[in-house]
Amino acid sequence: MRPTGRLHIGNYFGALQNWVKLQEDASNECFFFIADWHSLTSDYADTSQIAQNSIEIATDFLAAGLDPKKVVIFQQSQVIEHAELHLLLSMITPLGWLERVPTYKEQIENIKGKDLHTYGFLGYPVLQTADIVIYGEEGMSLAVPVGEDQVAHVELSREVVRHFNLFNGEFIVDESLRQENQAWQIGAICHALQIPADEFGLKAFPLSDDTWAKFVGAVRGRFLAIGFSNALELLARESQKADRRVKLAVGDRESDAKILGTDPEPWKTVKVVPVLVEPDVLLTEAKRVPGLDGRKMSKSYGNAIELGESDESIRVKTKAMITDPARKRRTDPGNPDICPVFDWHKLFSPAETLSWASVGCKTAGIGCIECKHEMANNLIKWIVPIRARRLEFAAEPGRVLEVIDAGSDRARETAQATMKRVREAVFGWNAKRASISGTDAEQRGAGD
Ligand code: SF4
Repeated sequence: MRPTGRLHIGNYFGALQNWVKLQEDASNECFFFIADWHSLTSDYADTSQIAQNSIEIATDFLAAGLDPKKVVIFQQSQVIEHAELHLLLSMITPLGWLERVPTYKEQIENIKGKDLHTYGFLGYPVLQTADIVIYGEEGMSLAVPVGEDQVAHVELSREVVRHFNLFNGEFIVDESLRQENQAWQIGAICHALQIPADEFGLKAFPLSDDTWAKFVGAVRGRFLAIGFSNALELLARESQKADRRVKLAVGDRESDAKILGTDPEPWKTVKVVPVLVEPDVLLTEAKRVPGLDGRKMSKSYGNAIELGESDESIRVKTKAMITDPARKRRTDPGNPDICPVFDWHKLFSPAETLSWASVGCKTAGIGCIECKHEMANNLIKWIVPIRARRLEFAAEPGRVLEVIDAGSDRARETAQATMKRVREAVFGWNAKRASISGTDAEQRGAGD
């Protein structure tokens, strides 16, 4: 979450509530962070509140029930490896992918008063990708808990990772395809990926080392040129044309055949050994909470109730809440299904109050003032323990800071392990150093 101010009940029901559930499953290792670099992508002009807001967000995390003994709570800018991975990913991410991100265009058009035509703002999905995949560990699945509306972002991250892995991971085509009896498979791959088989001399089987290397290079080149997912799709389509071939292409094992379309890992014909783990989406139920004015709840719209809001403020704000606009007089029946107050009842009120509000609204048996009053009572009951915890942590900002610092140290360990792997895949310095010291030792040996 970006440190743009205190969190509100929309953030709670949209994300925090699910995060708390995730932490209770011991098989999850969860990382939650304060995205201070992300706040700079749009709010770079005034950075004076970022530090304080970071403390506020961490305080809200703790108040909402995140437990630093069970999850890692950290600050993005304290783990500088995020920036290094962002840089490396930015080198391979095509510009068009970023320009086509719907939220990019939307925000450029809709957000006034800020110049968002910056390098950093365009690249925020790349930073987001780095934030996610730096916590991927070999052999473990990596998932991002998001609602439906965020799925496209994670999909872009997957594409960036696949692209990166294609450039930097090991690209393997099953060697058994070199054999004479596999010629038709080579033909099928060439046909699907539009590789001119004749140019590579792919006629004399078994293929020579030189021809084989050229063929593998050509397949990799097509994966890079058209994108990993597109290449897979073309191969899958080809395989669907001749189902018999699929089974043969994966060694006569029907169970593997279905994998052709989506998951490259167990597919034996063409495979990339990944450097970075592709993230999955962990779809969570994110309840949409309308703001006081019926629009999406947002701090910037001034229509939110914060997690630490006082009783008095809750009463004042909810009294002015928008209701069913057709219910102009007390005697007009209303429609609770289009009323934000009723949406809030669903979050905070018990079943009997819900039915009281619904029936009373439809029959004009109750007025909006009493309906709002009852909802506010239940909202206050709900907020009391969270607010109490918030006050407790807010009184000790040093303790909150300790949580952030310790979490950042823990996050850094994982991030550093990933970057070690990534740097070696990109630059191969360890291998180079080893070969130089080997040569040196050999020369010294010869001198002796
Ligand atoms: S009675 Fe309640 S649910 Fe109906 S319009 Fe008024 S505030 Fe909304």
